[in-house]
Amino acid sequence: MARDEGRGRIALVTGGASGIGLATAGVLAERGWRVVIADINEAPARAAATTLGAEALALDVTDEQATEAAFDDIEARLGPVEALVANAGLIQPGAPPERLPLQEFDRVIAVNLRGAYISCVAAGRRMAPRGRGGIVVTGSVTASRTAPLHAYAPSKAAVVHMAACLAAEWGRSGVRVNAVSPGYVATPPLRAAMERGLRDPRLLTKAAPLGRLVEPEEIGAGVAFLLSDHASAITGINLPIDAGWLAGA
Ligand code: NDP
Repeated sequence: MARDEGRGRIALVTGGASGIGLATAGVLAERGWRVVIADINEAPARAAATTLGAEALALDVTDEQATEAAFDDIEARLGPVEALVANAGLIQPGAPPERLPLQEFDRVIAVNLRGAYISCVAAGRRMAPRGRGGIVVTGSVTASRTAPLHAYAPSKAAVVHMAACLAAEWGRSGVRVNAVSPGYVATPPLRAAMERGLRDPRLLTKAAPLGRLVEPEEIGAGVAFLLSDHASAITGINLPIDAGWLAGA
């Protein structure tokens, strides 16, 4: 992939201070995008941005007004946002449905679905009149296969379908919308679940034909491809990046 693929265009990555978002921000920066890291807490967003030579802002993606204001601010200071990675998400440890508090269900849907929708609409309403733009949402392999994660998995199925609906809506305006669906990636929430014995790394790796977890940079590479001109005819798809986990299941 070319180092100047981004050509200095602006890419906003939500949840960009940690894990998959941070790695994706790094890959995009390497490929010549001007990256803006948005995350719910300012300090980690700033720390991540400093390492990558990126911009940072504090943003709760569930707040529509704040999201619109953030886009206005970035566009006034830096220029048009040409790529959005709607990645911020809550990974729910899981509980049987009978014991999953409804507030927890609402919280997961609020961030993973409603928050992604708010970011996508803020991006699309600006990109469509300009006739260009790319959006990638972070789904999950649990969007395609059942998992005992009774808020998380449905939220990811919905966000993947949302991306396809938005692709159909904005395709004629030159805006492409796709999803990536990571398999298991050892980011802080998964590492915490492993440490608490809630996930067994041996079972996760055994279930994947490649026999390993996925590196966060491998998700970033998929996102960068979907945002690049190499993917100019690709919209409305869901790209699993899962070490073969869905195929091997
Ligand atoms: P991380 O927790 O490492 O990164 C998520 C980031 O999003 C954190 O910095 C978190 O902040 C931030 N965030 C949470 N809520 C909000 C909000 N309301 N507004 C803005 N930022 C917010 O997790 P991952 O990197 O693992 O996950 C990234 C995405 O990838 C998620 O959508 C997740 O569902 C998805 N995914 C992850 C997989 C994995 O195995 N790791 C597998 C499949 C999908 P804070 O930590 O301060 O809460």
